[in-house]
Amino acid sequence: MTAAAAALRENGRDVIALSQGEPDFDTPREVQSAGIAAIREGKTRYTPVAGVKPLREAIRQKLLRDNSLDYDIEQITVGCGAKQVVFNALFASLDPGDEVIIPTPCWVSYPDMVRLAGGEPVPAACHEHFGFKLKPSDLEAAITPRTKWLMLNSPNNPTGAVYSKDELAELAGVLRRHNHVHVLADDIYEKLVYGVPFATIAEAAPDLVDRTLTINGVSKSSAMTGWRLGYGAGPKVLIKAMNTVQGQTSSHTSSISQYAAIVAVAGKQDHIADFVSDFRNRRDLLVEKINQATGLSCRTPDGAFYVFVNCTGVMGKSTPQGKVIGTDMDFAMYLLEEFGVAVVPGSGFMASPYIRISYASSIEDLQRACGRIHEACEALTGSESINEQCTTVA
Ligand code: PLP
Repeated sequence: MTAAAAALRENGRDVIALSQGEPDFDTPREVQSAGIAAIREGKTRYTPVAGVKPLREAIRQKLLRDNSLDYDIEQITVGCGAKQVVFNALFASLDPGDEVIIPTPCWVSYPDMVRLAGGEPVPAACHEHFGFKLKPSDLEAAITPRTKWLMLNSPNNPTGAVYSKDELAELAGVLRRHNHVHVLADDIYEKLVYGVPFATIAEAAPDLVDRTLTINGVSKSSAMTGWRLGYGAGPKVLIKAMNTVQGQTSSHTSSISQYAAIVAVAGKQDHIADFVSDFRNRRDLLVEKINQATGLSCRTPDGAFYVFVNCTGVMGKSTPQGKVIGTDMDFAMYLLEEFGVAVVPGSGFMASPYIRISYASSIEDLQRACGRIHEACEALTGSESINEQCTTVA
């Protein structure tokens, strides 16, 4: 969608992109300065594969301070974004045919990463009426003797769902009965929660810490997507294997990013309150406007910066150009081509018919985009709905 939006823009079209997965804020100034200082001080050479010690020490203290997780520095690895850390973990641990349970809707990269590492993604549907969260009974049903990992992502991309400590403890109750299953907690949106507390599973169930990999990074919390820095903390044997994979692929992320990230992780966190307050205002505006559009509805997400919109009510309708909207991809293309609004179809996240709207854009752009979305929905004609129910892939 981003490429299609860019192509339209090149042809002079006014396209509002609400498809992006990155904050639209600048990296905090003190972090920028730390990066510049690293260059000037010649910290521009190869570093240890797992990351420079002062950074791993800063991460160790962060995990203790924010998440009550007491890791040893040898249990921490740093990579080129949380993305590479997830991939390293899967690549280092999966044997052919090993299964990975992925609650859906899910971040687009998980299933492909599992396949690239030789494993089998096993989608576990999380339904909208259950807040898009995995039910313990559905987790139990998805586990087989081949299950190696459960992937947990809270706050979630694309739904914004946030698991409470109690909900995580309930899932842990299931995992306790299956001690061959490991948990990958992708906490990359930790700091972007709106009025609900953040919790991670190793904290909610400390007895599972030896089979949990806790992943986080600075991309979303410090608006550092381009710096490419994420980290993981987990059992020593796993971290060692992940470092071996990384040592023969990227070696490590940029030394400059590592020194800047020390400030992002250990420095003042004042910018986060500003990010959260801005995102919250935008979320509230978007949720209100979307729920006023004919045929669309959405929940109020508790975290991240996405709204996952149910578009069952526009399925089966016809556009003024005579096309029938049969899928969420059709609807997303209609919004893009006829109204210049780029969103991502739910099918990419293994849930249909939905669209994901990112609110990492200015209030003005969100207002303009909502006006266009309203117009687009009003212009549709025909059958109220052919689909009674939304489906998430199970
Ligand atoms: N995990 C989730 C759920 C994401 O949505 C993203 C990015 O969109 C990432 C990980 C990647 O983060 P990073 O930029 O640290 O690689």
